[in-house]
Amino acid sequence: MKKKPFVTKAQLEEMVKQFPTPFHLYDEKGIRANAQAVKEAFAWNRGFKEYFAVKATPNPFLIRILHEYGCGCDCSSLTELMLSDALGIRGEDIMFSANDTPAEEFRFASELGAVINLDDFTHIGFLEKTIGKIPETISCRYNPGGVYEISNGIMDNPGDAKYGFTKEQLFEGYRLLKEKGAKRFGLHSFLVSNTLTNDYYPALAKTLFELAVEIKKELDIEISFINLSGGVGIAYRPQETPNDIRAIGEGVRKAYQEILTPAGLGNTAIYTEMGRFMTGPYGCLVTTAIHEKHTYKDYIGVDACAANLMRPAMYGAYHHITVMGKEDAQADHKYDITGSLCENNDKFAVDRMLPQIEKGDLLVIHDTGAHGFAMGYNYNGRLWSAEVLLKEDGTPQLIRRAQTPEDYFATFDCFDILKDMKHPYV
Ligand SMILES: *Cc1c(COP(=O)(O)O)cnc(C)c1O
Repeated sequence: MKKKPFVTKAQLEEMVKQFPTPFHLYDEKGIRANAQAVKEAFAWNRGFKEYFAVKATPNPFLIRILHEYGCGCDCSSLTELMLSDALGIRGEDIMFSANDTPAEEFRFASELGAVINLDDFTHIGFLEKTIGKIPETISCRYNPGGVYEISNGIMDNPGDAKYGFTKEQLFEGYRLLKEKGAKRFGLHSFLVSNTLTNDYYPALAKTLFELAVEIKKELDIEISFINLSGGVGIAYRPQETPNDIRAIGEGVRKAYQEILTPAGLGNTAIYTEMGRFMTGPYGCLVTTAIHEKHTYKDYIGVDACAANLMRPAMYGAYHHITVMGKEDAQADHKYDITGSLCENNDKFAVDRMLPQIEKGDLLVIHDTGAHGFAMGYNYNGRLWSAEVLLKEDGTPQLIRRAQTPEDYFATFDCFDILKDMKHPYV
């Protein structure tokens, strides 16, 4: 499928007068339609809730939009909890799925009334010591170990992952939690990232549903909610087929009816913690070509860098690129598209066939709506870009200003050097 930007060249040309590139742009219409589709796909389950993985795109404007569709927040750090709290998303609208968790974060999550999803058996004692009790509602993260395989092959290697309880620990954990006063139990698992198959959630659901039945039989504990977590992927490449959330919801429903309902667990709520699927395709990084270089290869230097989008540098991840205004031109030039970091992996694309690029061309780097801006960092003193929302009525709204040198130097405050600092052109 041809990948088309959700914004036109004319719209962008207007926008860059107001917001200099680079910036991340989000598509309100797309986010809303997708959130509605997720809601509908799981409407068969009475307790269904999507807890948006805040780490994917921690922007309050976007989280507020998702909240309109019933989404809560999946948080795993102090500041993510603070963000959720500031938006008025509290109590059981927060899933606190952290690992290696500091005591003060358990304390704050507990104060907010968040559902705490424990990553490890030893966290039972740690939590009890930290907050003085075991909450009535509590969840545990399961890691089956080994390799995770579904009909179309091995998907990932949970045995190598740092997360979750072993099966033995899980049974012992629920027994202990019940003994310590817990009354409502959840089961959570996240086994594979960015899956491009409608079978992942249904397969994971089957694994967890069977486990819930076993837990009921062995421990006389009824699991109240099963959290399929994140991992539903998106089609980064044009030749990939996007996931169909309706088919996914239907697959989970089938497994539910086959396994949970007959076991008397037909009231179990299904939770999800999708990040990438909720916003990934509805964001892009807008950048301008500022240099052209020909040595042993042909390079286009843009004004964004890996500090604005780390996935290509970190994972060699593919992000599709559209040269605005040249959508239908022949892709007959082979380029490396580079940022300015003094790191040779700072390339948004390597050996990519694209139309001829001129300095000043606007490039749209697709699918940066999740794990894009959020993974930004300040290496080489590069600053975070702005985030802009393309509203449903076609107008842009600044939803996070770009970082300034003052922001960058702010943590030197205690050394009192800022007062003498002058920057000539900002
Ligand atoms: C990262 C993460 C998610 C979201 O994952 P996606 O792949 O973005 O859907 C959900 N839950 C937890 C605990 C995570 O760490």
